[in-house]
Amino acid sequence: MKKILVTGGAGFLGSNLCKKLLDEGNEVIALDNLYTGRMENIQPFLKNPAFQFIEHDIINPLKIDVPIDEIYNAACPASPPHYQKSPTFTTKTCVLGMLNMLELATKLQAKILQFSTSEVYGDPQIHPQPESYRGSVNPIGIRSCYDEGKRCAEALCFDYNREFGTRIKVIRIFNTYGPNMDPADGRVVSNMIIQALQNKDITIYGDGTQTRSFCYVDDLISGIMRMMQSREDFKGPVNLGNPNEFTILELAEKIIKLTGSHSKLQFNPLPSDDPMQRKPVIETASKELGWKPEILLDEGLIPTIRYFDQQLEK
Ligand code: UDP
Repeated sequence: MKKILVTGGAGFLGSNLCKKLLDEGNEVIALDNLYTGRMENIQPFLKNPAFQFIEHDIINPLKIDVPIDEIYNAACPASPPHYQKSPTFTTKTCVLGMLNMLELATKLQAKILQFSTSEVYGDPQIHPQPESYRGSVNPIGIRSCYDEGKRCAEALCFDYNREFGTRIKVIRIFNTYGPNMDPADGRVVSNMIIQALQNKDITIYGDGTQTRSFCYVDDLISGIMRMMQSREDFKGPVNLGNPNEFTILELAEKIIKLTGSHSKLQFNPLPSDDPMQRKPVIETASKELGWKPEILLDEGLIPTIRYFDQQLEK
């Protein structure tokens, strides 16, 4: 049994991770400022004596005196409309939050795993994206608070490792979907499922030919946990995502079919710097972690649609 800190523990990925860590018999402390995280995601664990919730914003230093074995740093708004609402706050969360968590990990000699992102590749000029690709990020665009914030956070991880010997792991997460996503998240999977369930127009940004590769949350969490337990000298960065690539139009068609919706497509302008394509090369994860995603998009959409249907009934 380990004592594990999960920042962003009430968020989509954080809460799914807390559940798996508790199921495996660990003690979990979840931190969240509830900016995008939601108490209902962690409600089922609140009575579990192995679980503790602390409302805390990681842009402020955290004092913890108990020994901690592992820190998963998942705290950050991750959907474009959310992270663009207050871009300077997003950068602070990425950079000051990372500094504070690296300080804590160094002091407690805990291993720290950073939730980085495929957004470090920007609008990629190389397709699909291996970890060696250095990316194509617009440093002054509307996505840069998140993209550059996360790039700086990666740099901090590796600098703390080189300068102070901090035990680090870095994963780059590609588009992920599943239960516990916020219905108001604003990303494509949640928007389209909710629109389809309500027979409202499905919003396609641009002409819908841009691509994403969608990973079901259970697959992602298993990859994340394998990364934490990977050999001590493997720091990453490692891509975690599903390499099955779809256009946004294909996604809309699947969701309309699976929900039996009468929704029509509505074409809206493409936001600036919206990446045209995204697909991970996952050879590193396969070699180092023995991991690959198992759940096809059509399979993963079914429990996700059920989850959003229940959310709409609330
Ligand atoms: N998108 C869309 N309709 C929506 C929301 C998003 O067509 O209602 C598009 C968006 O422009 C992008 C893709 O879907 O090209 C994925 O967007 P999302 O916000 O889910 O994540 P991103 O991968 O861009 O961070």
